[in-house]
Amino acid sequence: MLFRQLFDAASSTYTYLLGDAATREAVLVDSVFEQHARDAALVRELGLTLRFALDTHCHADHVTGAWLMRAAFGCQIGLSPLYGATNVDLPLTQGVILRFGAEALEVRATPGHTDGCVSLVSADHRLVFTGDALLVRGAGRTDFQHGSAQRLFQSIRAQLFSLPDACAVYPAHDYLGRTASTIGEERRLNPRIGGDAREEDFVGYMHNLGLPHPKQMAVAVPANLTSGEPAGGRAPTAPDWGPVALTYAGQPELAPDWVAAHRAEVHVLDVRDASEFDGELGHLPDAQLLPLGELRARVGDVPTVRPVVVVCQTGKRSALATQLLIAAGVTRVANLAGGMVAWRELGL
Ligand code: FE
Repeated sequence: MLFRQLFDAASSTYTYLLGDAATREAVLVDSVFEQHARDAALVRELGLTLRFALDTHCHADHVTGAWLMRAAFGCQIGLSPLYGATNVDLPLTQGVILRFGAEALEVRATPGHTDGCVSLVSADHRLVFTGDALLVRGAGRTDFQHGSAQRLFQSIRAQLFSLPDACAVYPAHDYLGRTASTIGEERRLNPRIGGDAREEDFVGYMHNLGLPHPKQMAVAVPANLTSGEPAGGRAPTAPDWGPVALTYAGQPELAPDWVAAHRAEVHVLDVRDASEFDGELGHLPDAQLLPLGELRARVGDVPTVRPVVVVCQTGKRSALATQLLIAAGVTRVANLAGGMVAWRELGL
């Protein structure tokens, strides 16, 4: 199975992208609204067909990216029906099987952190995505959103600790940089519910955590009750001057054919050396030559009345140049994907 663990530093959230390596069908678990461009770029670059955007629960500390994913890829949004959230296509209840290619996830109800929490178990019981039910050496707080320490104790013991020792545990959060654990490890070593802990021990622990409420709670919960639909039902504004795509590498990029068709609307900055500029690949008409090595010192020489499209031989040096221009405060700038080599190959 194709597997990627992604991280949102602002909320310490882990997002998981799973895919069938053969059919390229995929699932995204616990996406973060602000990370949509990153996650969508990865789905596209890996050639995946996103079937489901799932949330293990209604989060209180970040807004889900599920609605944006559905808008971008037409996938189904999955969440427990217990929250009554809108835009949910697929109610996640005990025993539901989510198939993507030859792979599948089984839904297990694991209430306690909230009443609608679910865990997602791979068909071969080698992976479990526990949301905020079971965390690495921890467990999700139970003091709001219909939480119950007693129910969480029962959920973890019955639905999670019944999995094989070797089953890898992937939580929705970690605040100390721990990325994964196993069921066997947590059954032995979890300081709240591991070893010979009894229900009274766990409940006593959870009732005395004394945590402040999450900073984002007043914003996140109402937004998550619409599956993260932005106000007015429109995705946040993309660049208005061209179809700029943000790559997983973090680069704003434009396709050569768009640049060819809109040549007069943009300023082309060529960051190759002078010998290449006049070499076999040639250069775009009216391109400004400013080699990458001189760009830092001469960034003020780049006119910004029109949006800037940066070009080099294959799009690598121009990608760095694009980042230099962004750092210098140029807001309308993108890299020409594939550089002059792609331009010539496309016969432009
Ligand atoms: Fe949570």
